[in-house]
Amino acid sequence: MLDKVVIANRGEIALRILRACHALGIKTVAVHSTVDRNLKHVAMADESVCIGPPPSAQSYLDIPAIIAAAEVTDAQAIHPGYGFLSENADFAERVEQSGFIFIGPRADTIRLMGDKVEAIKAMKAAGVPCVPGSGGPLGDDPAENARIAEEIGYPVIVKAAGGGGGRGMRVVHTAAALHNAIATTKSEAKAAFGNDMVYMEKFLENPRHVEIQVLADGQGNAIHLGERDCSMQRRHQKVVEEAPAPGITEAQRAEIGQVCVEACLRIGYRGAGTFEFLYEDGRFYFIEMNTRIQVEHPVTEMVTGIDLVREQLLIAAGHKLSIRQEDVVLRGHAIECRINAEDPDTFMPCPGLIKHFHAPGGPGVRVDSHIYESYRVPSNYDSMIGKLIVHGADRAQAIARMRVALSEMVIDGIKTNIPLQQRIMADPGFRQGGMNIHYLEKRLKEQKEKAIGLG
Ligand code: ADP
Repeated sequence: MLDKVVIANRGEIALRILRACHALGIKTVAVHSTVDRNLKHVAMADESVCIGPPPSAQSYLDIPAIIAAAEVTDAQAIHPGYGFLSENADFAERVEQSGFIFIGPRADTIRLMGDKVEAIKAMKAAGVPCVPGSGGPLGDDPAENARIAEEIGYPVIVKAAGGGGGRGMRVVHTAAALHNAIATTKSEAKAAFGNDMVYMEKFLENPRHVEIQVLADGQGNAIHLGERDCSMQRRHQKVVEEAPAPGITEAQRAEIGQVCVEACLRIGYRGAGTFEFLYEDGRFYFIEMNTRIQVEHPVTEMVTGIDLVREQLLIAAGHKLSIRQEDVVLRGHAIECRINAEDPDTFMPCPGLIKHFHAPGGPGVRVDSHIYESYRVPSNYDSMIGKLIVHGADRAQAIARMRVALSEMVIDGIKTNIPLQQRIMADPGFRQGGMNIHYLEKRLKEQKEKAIGLG
């Protein structure tokens, strides 16, 4: 087993990783910025190292500082969590070159999946269904690009090969708008990702976002753990996630799950990963693979009873997968609400001092959060301050439990999106299930118009 792990992250996921390490008897090293001295996991870690000032570029993204922290504490491995350096192939490479274990896939796998054009090519070759598209990067010839778009059929979406976090995409409805859209997306992509390569896909108008969780040991064994539905999105950012996805049959799950497992084996995948799909008219279309633990992993844990971070640690320690596909049984239904420090109406971030905090409880209720009373949410990082996850025998019970849990949760001193989550849980469309990725924004727009007297 691993002896000591550096947790190269902050907030709730750092705490989540710490808990999994300690449950396996693994010692932990917290690395943190100066503004994060008071993080809960820093207090709980066996050791902690301050790696720099608040801006992420000078702390959580500072590769030499993190590797130095592993060196001075004599740790064996580094867990990157999500965000920050988790999908940075150079980081993974330098971690391994420095003699540490990177808790994730091999650097070349991360590099492959980080280039969406290459990722789609590799997935197509592995038999994974993809969105009809350009099949490669777009060149500079307007006539050729127009021909590709015509062949795909409007509307199309122009996407940055190096994009992420819902940025670097543009929907195009007409041939007249195509040339400018490509040029703008290219220059934005260059500025944001340092790579101006873009590609084109059919823009699916009513898809759901359904993703498959996988685990692979890099030693010839891989399994899938069913799907999550993450269609409740705002600005391409997930707000609520659930497992299983409403309406997906056992046969569909087994079929797409098996496709993902075979793709993992083919590319020699190692660790936890997620195949993201758009799902429309009963068909799956691959959009990208995330080569790390995801924010929404707990809903899969709740329905399978499998601790995904524990499995990541075991795989990194060189263990073969001990779970066989037939051992993966889905029980009941789980829902996760992301809790953000933000105004529930304007979505403006709202950092500051938490004066009072009461966590909800009861059967099937899980709170993954680092906040506590008198904790100050800094303004330097993402506004997500935790996740509320519930499990029920079925979807209706999960929603009922989530509504009670949200009403019990008190976070005073800062604004949070709890009121928004309560509205979503009460929404007829959400309660029906199976809404598409545009549903939430449509409802938010309707409610806003109603509030200002347009409805
Ligand atoms: P990122 O890496 O930035 O998350 P993705 O490729 O995963 O980018 O896309 C993010 C979101 O953008 C999807 O969940 C979906 O809402 C929307 N999207 C991406 N591709 C398409 C498409 N071809 N048709 C419709 N919506 C899309």
